[in-house]
Amino acid sequence: MRQTKITLIMSTLAVAVTAMAGNPFFETYKTPHQTIPFNEIKTEHFFPAFEEAMKQHTLEVDGIINNPQEPTFENTIVALERSGALLTKVSSPFYNLMSSETNDELQAIAEKISPLVTEHSNSVRLNEKLFARIKAVYLQKDKLKLTPEQQMLLKDTYEGFTRSGANLSDTDKAAYRELTKELNMLTLQYGQNVLKETNKYSLLITAKALLSGLPADFMDVLLSNAKKAGKEGWLLNLKATCYVPFMKYADNRDLRRELYMANSSKCMLGGEFDNRENVRKIVNARLKISNLLGFKSYADYELVDRMAEEKAKVYDLLDKLRLAYKPEAEKEYAAVQEYADKHGAYFIVQPWDWSYYSEKLKDEKFAVNDEMLKPYFELENVKKGVFGLATRLYGIKFTKNTKIPVYNPEVDTYDVTDENGKFLAVLYTDFHPRDGKRAGAWMSDFKNQSMVENTDSRPQITVVMNFTRATDTKPALLTFDEVKTFLHEFGHSLHGMLSKCTYESLSGTNVYRDFVELPSQIMENWASEKDFLDGFAKHYKTGEKIPAELIQKIKDSENFNNAYLCMRQLSFGYLDMGWHTLEKPFEGDVTVFEKELMTSTQILPMIPNTSMSPNFSHIFSGGYAAGYYSYKWAEVLDADAFSVFSKNGIFDKKTAGSFRKNILEKGGSEHPMILYKRFRGQEPTIDAILKRDGITK
Ligand SMILES: [Zn+2]
Repeated sequence: MRQTKITLIMSTLAVAVTAMAGNPFFETYKTPHQTIPFNEIKTEHFFPAFEEAMKQHTLEVDGIINNPQEPTFENTIVALERSGALLTKVSSPFYNLMSSETNDELQAIAEKISPLVTEHSNSVRLNEKLFARIKAVYLQKDKLKLTPEQQMLLKDTYEGFTRSGANLSDTDKAAYRELTKELNMLTLQYGQNVLKETNKYSLLITAKALLSGLPADFMDVLLSNAKKAGKEGWLLNLKATCYVPFMKYADNRDLRRELYMANSSKCMLGGEFDNRENVRKIVNARLKISNLLGFKSYADYELVDRMAEEKAKVYDLLDKLRLAYKPEAEKEYAAVQEYADKHGAYFIVQPWDWSYYSEKLKDEKFAVNDEMLKPYFELENVKKGVFGLATRLYGIKFTKNTKIPVYNPEVDTYDVTDENGKFLAVLYTDFHPRDGKRAGAWMSDFKNQSMVENTDSRPQITVVMNFTRATDTKPALLTFDEVKTFLHEFGHSLHGMLSKCTYESLSGTNVYRDFVELPSQIMENWASEKDFLDGFAKHYKTGEKIPAELIQKIKDSENFNNAYLCMRQLSFGYLDMGWHTLEKPFEGDVTVFEKELMTSTQILPMIPNTSMSPNFSHIFSGGYAAGYYSYKWAEVLDADAFSVFSKNGIFDKKTAGSFRKNILEKGGSEHPMILYKRFRGQEPTIDAILKRDGITK
């Protein structure tokens, strides 16, 4: 019904029709599978389309509110779910292009449009008449005989509104609005302080001898850093691209210490960018908001929409992992100390020594590196391997379709079909870095799967990477980590492509945050399986299969210092939970409280005048508050789920079929623990991750 709705409104608004002429967003796409006509969309089409789409959405919402019939699940919850189709049609290509093919004009539109879109969605979220109808349906929920997916939609819709304060008294609503405004400002300021403090620091080195140990291409980066700043020599800074390799390779211990201290004392030593007061204010504002909405702490509020459900379960996981990994982590520390001693260190290994000696020990122990592996991972072969894995597991096939319009000639498109030849999805792949593409790798969708008027409207999914491209003499060769990244994002794309849900907002990857990484991370498990690698990992020059001993080395080196890394992740998890389970406003000393929270996971010596909380953007200015644990949660899940494949065979069709039916097809249509138990037969345990990480044999 989407298109009829649009046509209807168009014909009544004669003036708007002329502005719409020639704007593809107002027409039915005539492309294969109604994919986005990138060849016809021009930058100037976006703004008028956004404006019109918001207008239409408002009219649709008004239609729901003014419906003379009593509120029902269909005329309120489903109607709201289906509303805003044109807005989705415009925003999906827009925001995808903002990430993968942006330019100044697009950025300018984004700046103009984002406050309007925020205002628009607030006007829907804070619409009292709309909420009154939703609440009326919600209160009858037990009598309505809804399917599990419908129950989920009702719950999500209702909670979406109440979590924005819709159910509060007028006084509390005003307080809520003030608090969210304050919190937004604080988190923004916090993030900017971290950025400014990071960017403020630089250290010019003029004597080359001080930089011994650094790889030549990294030296070039430092050289060009200096040049850009109008200086001569090598310029160090605190950005990850400089900090991480420097700590790994620099022989000069004093410089490592200097850089470590600068990095670990960011925003905590006084001065204009100090974040300690912001930390206090942020946790206190979050606590007040949670209290207003009826929760004891911010973690209680956040965990409602998580697979973990409650803080006791989060702590249970953190504690179990800590007890299991700590003895091994201490052994790893002792081994690095021993190696350092053997190589002339007359000191206790400190945080600024850890990466340096670990890297050297790893080299000595495993003698495997990217350059040895890359020749076996030519992109075209890896792609065949990854697509082929999906074919083996799920029977799905990928056929290139050059008739689908793309936003850049480098992008490829595929028709994805099921075992019986039935069309499943469109898949876009975009592999290489370009100006206008942001860093990293991600999966996204141009269109989600949903049922529209009893017709299954199939999804359009994209995976975007930043792999080094081919040169005149060499094809594109991937590192082992990049192979895993490909599998990871492809796993997300399977979640999107195989979706079989009714409602768009619950389909594909629209699931709870601590569940969304299961379909992606599980795919990474295949990367170090010999039977999988044998199928495609061939030397790009000689065609020789990847040697078995090399695969073994990959496997062995993957667990190197794993327990230490786990303890580090756990320490961040405890820190995050500590701040967000507070039930009283915090007025104490940030650093002192942090030490209490992190002591039980500490492996390396604690260093005075350093602190994590004032520069932990993930939880204080990103979206991970009371959610940092989910990294580990998802790892436990993926190891536990993969253990079923390990047991039944990594290509076992029956296991794959069950994973598809119970997890990949279901999106967020039911609670993730219910879905997971249907696949696994029980709740996840940590046994498999302990085994995979080499903690138990
Ligand atoms: Zn992911």
